[in-house]
Amino acid sequence: MKDYTKRLQKAIDFFNQHKYVLVLAGAGLAYDAGLHAYGDLLYGEFADFADKFLLTDLNEGFTSIDKQCLPDFYSRYARVFHHSPPKSEMHEQLFNLLKHKKYFVTQLNPDYLFERAGFDPNRVFHTAGEPHLMQCAQGCCDTLLPVPNRGEPLPVCPWCGGEMRPYLDIYGDDKFVTPPMFTDKLAHHAAFVHKGRERGLLVLDLECGIHDHFGVNGSIISRNLMRDNRVRMIRINSFEPIYAECENLVSFDESAADVITELLLALPQPRRGRPPHYIAAGRGLTRGR
Ligand SMILES: [Zn+2]
Repeated sequence: MKDYTKRLQKAIDFFNQHKYVLVLAGAGLAYDAGLHAYGDLLYGEFADFADKFLLTDLNEGFTSIDKQCLPDFYSRYARVFHHSPPKSEMHEQLFNLLKHKKYFVTQLNPDYLFERAGFDPNRVFHTAGEPHLMQCAQGCCDTLLPVPNRGEPLPVCPWCGGEMRPYLDIYGDDKFVTPPMFTDKLAHHAAFVHKGRERGLLVLDLECGIHDHFGVNGSIISRNLMRDNRVRMIRINSFEPIYAECENLVSFDESAADVITELLLALPQPRRGRPPHYIAAGRGLTRGR
């Protein structure tokens, strides 16, 4: 379906028909929001690292930077991605779109853009870890410690005494640990999907890469859920578009910010307070006195 207006209407219908919305958010969404890991951010805030270690992608820093520079790199990364992520109008609009729904966000990129925009932290699952925490580099235990402030030394593992590294699933090995805060959220994600399927689930797949190396693969989840005819999906991906047409899918290769804005404008948001018919009846009584 090439016609944008028709696709938008189909997405609006999906929103109106579903109370349960699972958001799968990939790295592209963070990029759209200003976390330009291979652009402005790399050559701005991290320019000294990019120059010294010839980085072409910020995440190469985790494996390419020499040891004495790593504490500074970790603390800066934690600040930009976790403590002070950019203010994203797109994420705020997404929150306005979803705040009256039963939603759950399963995030493949380790940033706090959703929480900053107002999303309930209890309903956001960071599948790729969290950059302000550190874990044992050997994965001997699931103890997590905070990334130290700039200038402070890195902690050592309280169990084996070995090195620690950021709690991020970015190293391509099997050392990423899954502490209770991870497994609890994974169970929450599964329970949400299960409940949503019984009642009708809408999946909002936002810029999830087909070959996403972070955490669980959103594309695999999407494809599995798509086999269930109780599930509907809106896929927005300007980086890796797909053009499949089927009854329970509508896909966009337009910018996520534009599509989210237009959905928000098209969907009436529930108002707080008494429903309109109740107010009308009350006014009628007043007039009758
Ligand atoms: Zn250890």
